[in-house]
Amino acid sequence: MTDRPLVFAANWKMNHGPSEARAFARKFLPLTTPVQGRRLWFFPPAVSIEALAQSLHQRPDIAVGAQNVHWELKGAFTGGISIPMVTEVGARLTLVGHSERRHLFGETDEQVARKTRAALKAGIMPLVCVGETLAERDGGRTEQVIVRQLGSVIQALETEDWEHVALAYEPVWAIGTGKNATPDDAAQIHELIRMELGRHGVTKRVPILYGGSVNAGNVASLLTRPQLDGVLVGGASLDPDKWAELVEQGSRAKVRPSGGYGMVE
Ligand code: PEP
Repeated sequence: MTDRPLVFAANWKMNHGPSEARAFARKFLPLTTPVQGRRLWFFPPAVSIEALAQSLHQRPDIAVGAQNVHWELKGAFTGGISIPMVTEVGARLTLVGHSERRHLFGETDEQVARKTRAALKAGIMPLVCVGETLAERDGGRTEQVIVRQLGSVIQALETEDWEHVALAYEPVWAIGTGKNATPDDAAQIHELIRMELGRHGVTKRVPILYGGSVNAGNVASLLTRPQLDGVLVGGASLDPDKWAELVEQGSRAKVRPSGGYGMVE
């Protein structure tokens, strides 16, 4: 039995300003109830963090996070947002190293490691994303890329830091494309990540999510794999009804005979 939570994480990317975020919360809240061991995480655009965090504050199973933060606390970084700024408005988590940050904005492994360390130091949980491009996959370099991306974070952290870190495996070719990894492919890479963590003495409590074109129709087959502790979802998290349906379908696939997900709370 796992002592890891089951996580459904919504990455809204550049969608839903504050009023849309409030409207989403109003519709979504009555569609789900808290379940032991299950966490619902939302990553809205920075300007919507406060509105969403306030709208969802009565739900202990829900947390709101930033999509990106700077590693410095303040300074001359035009357009940047610091961790104290996002925590002040209600963020308790942050995405780090999402493939759109890495590939569209040129974020490096070293920057990802710095942001991860800064988030931990400031007391918010980083959800660190790793994943290979199609060219890397076709070139047979998937494992090498994952080990390299993960390695830079492992090097930057102390073993005990990992109590407060979550990871997402998101193959870049699967994000927003409608093509998702097969459950077997995803499970294999999750196993590799877990092995790499183990090789560095890292606790088994780190949740590892899968992301890439997950929807209500495919989430159950992915989450029946014990290696997957949840999903990180973009497009299918934007509509409250669809997102609630996805959470419901995914939860059914993972529920244990005890009625919860095995995490001691
Ligand atoms: C993402 O943005 O992390 C993601 C997985 O997007 P999508 O679900 O749209 O592929």
